[in-house]
Amino acid sequence: MRAHELVATALVCAVAAGCSPAKKPVSSPPTEPAKASSTAPAPVDLPPEGEAIDWGALDSTSVRNPNDGFLQGGVPLPITAPGLRFNPERDPAARYGTIEVVRGLVDAGSRVHRELGGLPVTVNDLSYEHGGPIPHHSSHQNGRDVDVFFYQLGPDGDPIESVGAFFDPSGAGVDFGDLADPSDDVALRLDIPRTWLFLQALVEDDGAHLQQIFIAEHLRTLFVEYAKTQHVPAATIERFAEMTCQPSYPHDDHFHFRFFCAPDDVPEGCRDSPPMYPWQQKKLKDAGVRPRPLAPKRAQAKAKIVTHEEAREAAGPLDAEVERWLDLRKQWIDKPHPGRNYCP
Ligand SMILES: [Zn+2]
Repeated sequence: MRAHELVATALVCAVAAGCSPAKKPVSSPPTEPAKASSTAPAPVDLPPEGEAIDWGALDSTSVRNPNDGFLQGGVPLPITAPGLRFNPERDPAARYGTIEVVRGLVDAGSRVHRELGGLPVTVNDLSYEHGGPIPHHSSHQNGRDVDVFFYQLGPDGDPIESVGAFFDPSGAGVDFGDLADPSDDVALRLDIPRTWLFLQALVEDDGAHLQQIFIAEHLRTLFVEYAKTQHVPAATIERFAEMTCQPSYPHDDHFHFRFFCAPDDVPEGCRDSPPMYPWQQKKLKDAGVRPRPLAPKRAQAKAKIVTHEEAREAAGPLDAEVERWLDLRKQWIDKPHPGRNYCP
């Protein structure tokens, strides 16, 4: 088993973030659910790479909840765009989101590319074109969830294409390659400046409607501490700190981003779940959208996760450094974050 497989699909999936491995993988994208309205937007294609995207010409609707919803007019994340790429090891059918989510990701990648250069960040699954159940996740069903690796630096300190490696409280990580072979292990560093700028771009993007960021608490701390040393508006840091939390299983190798319903999707049946923030409530009010009761959390609470032990067993023989890391990570699984709670 390759490290990326183990890390990205087995160990990190969390109940709260809704990315528990599916028991029976769905082998092909679902067809559009029967409830889709006859006015559903037509499928979209983005212009060829390098040409500007006319976001205003696109239309999408996220329907119901991330755990039991579907997507109309899903917008494909470009396979590559300035500052980001869709993970070539993932199914490209799983790169559809709402227009707000995809535009937000493209703009965030572009901002990092423009201001700090480096290599593109690696984006993993969003949703299928029409949403619905998707392997390895219990959410990701209506275009408002996405998993993204962190920007990373290789052994010589230069940017590398980000992979599914986990990082410790000092920002050190390892790309294990073959988990049974110690000779191919590569020491990595979390690229905090680029990753922070990506986060800052998403948090400050009012039109993306970011709701929550799921990561391990020690990484949240690293980003907050870093941001305080930069010329970052205090309101941005506060908002990031408020919307970021550790799920019951720590995300120490990727972000899971959850986005709110776009205001114009709410009357079409899009449902938000907690937490709701004052700033989002104001946005809905300003858009003339009548607030709806928040969706219950039941679907997330029922999600089955692969335990540490199960994943370890399934991985087969592991080299000593992998074993050491797995023991190390238990610290931030068992004691997530003194003084703070798991994600609501
Ligand atoms: Zn996810």
